[in-house]
Amino acid sequence: MSSSATVELLGITPNAERLIEEAGRTCYLSFDKMGDDSHKRFIRMIIKNGHHSVLEHASATFRIKGGSRSFTHQIVRHRMASFSQQSQRYVDEHGFQVVTPGSIEQNPEALKVFNEAVAHCREAYAKLKAMDIRKEDARFVLPNAATSEIVITANFREWRHIIDMRTEKGAQWEIREISEQILKELAKHAPTVFEDMAQA
Ligand SMILES: Cc1cc2nc3c(=O)[nH]c(=O)nc-3n(C[C@H](O)[C@H](O)[C@H](O)COP(=O)(O)OP(=O)(O)OC[C@H]3O[C@@H](n4cnc5c(N)ncnc54)[C@H](O)[C@@H]3O)c2cc1C
Repeated sequence: MSSSATVELLGITPNAERLIEEAGRTCYLSFDKMGDDSHKRFIRMIIKNGHHSVLEHASATFRIKGGSRSFTHQIVRHRMASFSQQSQRYVDEHGFQVVTPGSIEQNPEALKVFNEAVAHCREAYAKLKAMDIRKEDARFVLPNAATSEIVITANFREWRHIIDMRTEKGAQWEIREISEQILKELAKHAPTVFEDMAQA
C-alpha cells in the first residue's frame, strides 16, 4: 500500500542541533567544550541518558496534503503537537478527493464497491447542499477516505515520540508512511537527533 500524501517542511528551528547543545550545556555551564562537532556528542549523550526535555528547544512544522481524514484523526491524538486543519465547516467539500487503500485498489470487486460508495457520498453531499443544508451538516455524509490538509508543529522530543509510535509495525499503513516521510525530512536537517530512528 502506498500513500499519495505529500509532506512539506514549512519551517524548522535554524541551527537546531547547535541550539540544543547550547541550551543543554546551560545545565553544566560547559560552554567551553563547544567546538565544530561537539553538538553531535552532546545530543547522543542526552538521548542515551533520557534527558529528552533538552530536545524541546527545537521544533519543526509540516504541511501534509492528500492524507485521509482517517490519517488526520489519528495524528491529532498527539496532544503535545499543534495543528491547523482544513475545516469541513468552512471549506466546500463538493467533489472531495479520496485516499484509496491499496488492498481495495488491487481488488477489482472491492474497488467497485468503494467507488460506488464514494460516488454516493459525493451525490448525497451535493443534494444536501442544493437543499440549502449548511456545510457543517452536509459534511456528515463525508467518508473517512476524504482527503484533508493539515499543518503540524511539534518540538523534536514530540516528533521523536510520534515517529516512534507511528512508524512501528503495528501502526496503520497511511500514518506509518507519512511518519516515515516526516522522519526522512527531519533526519536531513537534524541528523544527530533522528539518526537512531532513521537507521532503525
Ligand atoms: C498502533 C496504535 C494503535 C492505536 N489504537 C488506538 C485505539 O484503538 N483507540 C484509541 O483511542 N487510540 C488508539 N491509539 C492512539 C493512542 O492511544 C494515543 O492516543 C496516541 O498514540 C497519542 O499517544 P500519546 O498519548 O503517547 O502521545 P502524545 O499525546 O503525543 O503525548 C506525548 C507524551 O506526553 C505525555 N502526556 C501527554 N498528555 C499527558 C497527560 N494528560 N498526562 C500525562 N502525560 C501526558 C505522555 O508521556 C505521552 O506519551 C493508537 C495508537 C497506536 C500507535
